[in-house]
Amino acid sequence: MSKIALITGITGQDGSYLTELLLERGYVVHGVVRRTSSLDRSRLKDLYADSETYKNRLFLHYADLDDPTTLRRVIFKAAPDEIYHLAGQSHVGLSFEIPESTCEMTAMGTLRLLEMIRDLPKKPRLFHAASSEIFGKPTDVPQDEKTSLRPVNPYGCAKAFAFQMVAVYRDTFGIFACNGIMYNHESPRRGENFVTRKICRAAAAIKLGIEKELSLGDLSSKRDWGDARDYVVGMFLALQHETPGDYVFATGELNSVEDVVRIAFETVGLDWKQFVKQDPRFMRPAEPQRLIGNPSKAELQLGWKRTRAFTQLIAEMTLSDLENLRPTGA
Ligand code: NDP
Repeated sequence: MSKIALITGITGQDGSYLTELLLERGYVVHGVVRRTSSLDRSRLKDLYADSETYKNRLFLHYADLDDPTTLRRVIFKAAPDEIYHLAGQSHVGLSFEIPESTCEMTAMGTLRLLEMIRDLPKKPRLFHAASSEIFGKPTDVPQDEKTSLRPVNPYGCAKAFAFQMVAVYRDTFGIFACNGIMYNHESPRRGENFVTRKICRAAAAIKLGIEKELSLGDLSSKRDWGDARDYVVGMFLALQHETPGDYVFATGELNSVEDVVRIAFETVGLDWKQFVKQDPRFMRPAEPQRLIGNPSKAELQLGWKRTRAFTQLIAEMTLSDLENLRPTGA
């Protein structure tokens, strides 16, 4: 019999790749979607186009993290073996603009989900997408599963609460619940307001003459950036292991914003120095420093491996945007 998975955040970057992975492995996949003014769920469009899959093995349900009745109903209807909880306000910078809703969705939304699972006679396994931002200003470099939590922004605080609650419910109620401590991961499906995608898209737009320049904050800012397609494999592996646990998913390498800029502009044959300006308006308050992860536990216990290098990823994202922005017929 096919296994059944439920994904919150199925329309997001990770949710869409995870859906493809689970369908490939024979799962029936249910996804939670929010009501929006448009039905254009672009990251899932190829799956929609496959009517056999869409009718028989992929099901979308309206629900919201801050509407527990809807979520409870979907869980009862889907009766999942595994829940991948990826939904939330995922932008760190924006969490300073909308801190209350960020915490409501990410912190309380996760707690509500844990409460629902606690009440079920047959409890599904749960994967929760936590974040390296829980470490904020870490004392250890690189960080691992034992590093203390010291978040420095509302997003990190909300994720830290959710991370800890997942551990509490695992220990107290015996729920098979795993936290993935996810470092930044990117892909051609990354949201356009994240810095990597913003840069790749701008390089493509400047190449095509659609835009003239790109304004950025601190170019020396460094991140541990991986590929989203590798990270969703980690989520899957965490729930197949015999015991539940927390895992760092990271590359263990730092690259700067300037590295992203250089690779993206080189990919389209342009000299970035002619087009990129630094703008203090994009500097982020309380920028976390030295966030670099040690993924040894995931590698050793889960057999998790990264398959794509940073340069390859940024070049692919840029070429994808070049294709998307190119006028049809050109
Ligand atoms: P995205 O922003 O691409 O996707 C977020 C998803 O959450 C979307 O499907 C969104 O729906 C959904 N969502 C947001 N609010 C609600 C709500 N109130 N009710 C129901 N659904 C909601 O994020 P990613 O795919 O990149 O990330 C997945 C998870 O991993 C997130 O929790 C993120 O914080 C975490 N993470 C990601 C990292 C990364 O680098 N990508 C790093 C660390 C952690 P809609 O399409 O309607 O907006």
